[in-house]
Amino acid sequence: MNAQEPPLESTSPLTDALAQLDGAAKHLGISSGSHAMLAQPRRELMVSVPLRRDDGSTVVYSGYRVQHNFSRGPAKGGLRYSPSVDIDEIRALAMWMTWKCALVDVPYGGAKGGVTFEPRDHSKAELERVTRRYTSEILPIIGPDVDIPAPDMGTNEQTMAWIMDTYSSAQGHTVPGIVTGKPISLGGSLGRASATSRGVSHVALMAMASRGIDPTQASAAVQGFGKVGRDAARFLHDAGVTVQAVSDVDGAIFNGNGISVSALGAHVDATGSVAGFDGAEDLNPADLLTAEVDALIPAALEGVITADNAHDIHAGIVVEGANGPTTNEADAILHDRGVLVVPDILANAGGVVVSYFEWVQANQAYQWRESEVNERLKERMTRAWYSVIEYASLHRLTYRQAATALAVQRVVEAHELRGLYP
Ligand code: NAD
Repeated sequence: MNAQEPPLESTSPLTDALAQLDGAAKHLGISSGSHAMLAQPRRELMVSVPLRRDDGSTVVYSGYRVQHNFSRGPAKGGLRYSPSVDIDEIRALAMWMTWKCALVDVPYGGAKGGVTFEPRDHSKAELERVTRRYTSEILPIIGPDVDIPAPDMGTNEQTMAWIMDTYSSAQGHTVPGIVTGKPISLGGSLGRASATSRGVSHVALMAMASRGIDPTQASAAVQGFGKVGRDAARFLHDAGVTVQAVSDVDGAIFNGNGISVSALGAHVDATGSVAGFDGAEDLNPADLLTAEVDALIPAALEGVITADNAHDIHAGIVVEGANGPTTNEADAILHDRGVLVVPDILANAGGVVVSYFEWVQANQAYQWRESEVNERLKERMTRAWYSVIEYASLHRLTYRQAATALAVQRVVEAHELRGLYP
């Protein structure tokens, strides 16, 4: 593998994830048997999720839980509620979770779950019923030592509280370690809610420093204003970066002098969307990705930076808050153009790092101070950043290739030490 090697054609997150694994396997020279095992999830479950709606009618949704790997520990990964969820998307996200956990050296394998529906079209009571039914369907394959869900797109700490309660009811006692990203009052970790965004901001600032960019002279655009994008914009703003453009599913906004992230947050709390914010002008959402900023933070969904728009990306730094926002074809184009891409498995790993801290705290029934959580997070993100840039420079790889190779190497090592049963 070298940075110039043409990627396989990008057709979906799964083909991209498999092509990234192929590249790492060739670079590391791993055996075809180990490669084949890593290309395949260890276990997957597809379930029907019937929902009795508030009007008395019944609809049936599809749910999934994919456990990609257990070599380094229990499987770990988020739960996504979105109409775009399908089994291949969940397979790709589960594989990326394995690499992410290995890269930041937390003792987990990777998993992901999803239910195919639009949560915004449902009442809170319906969301609770979907969550409890989905949890009861996947109950045989999850557990605090087996597979630990967390929030992802369309889910939040309330969702985790319902999962914890459903699982605990089945066990007959409270099991706080079954999920992470719980409310603080149920054993959630201080600092977890903003951990992914904090990590995104740490690596964005390290990427700027590596390019000699002073954050107080830098500008950024953030796609997505949810759990990841909102606080990423806030932390970058707090570091002196001028956040010029922000978008969500309903629209995009731009202000060349900078958007007040706290005022935008208040607007979103009141209206549900960034659209219509009076501290900025409306922007065509597609133009957010090509805005004339120093750093672009895609923090919404996969496959948004493609071969069609990669030539027009203006930012010199792309920090992947979302999972899989850049297709492999776009990645090669950005590399050729000298754009520094901080890959998802590094950039957004802050969430799983603090999820791990939450699991440790839950299992020990002991809570750490928020400052302690944040310091340990920063230390882990910094260590992962330097391991990736050093490996990339040593082997002449892109940061994504280096991060994937480092992670795959750790998983293969664990797998080989344990041996193949029987
Ligand atoms: P979320 O549901 O809280 O927020 C998603 C945001 O994206 C919302 O603001 C939504 O309006 C916006 N969005 C959706 N479609 C869009 C579009 N077409 N254009 C612009 N904006 C759009 O989800 P989240 O938890 O913030 O997750 C976002 C991404 O980050 C996902 O890829 C997820 O897998 C990844 N991620 C999340 C975490 C976490 O801790 N939550 C950790 C690591 C990675």
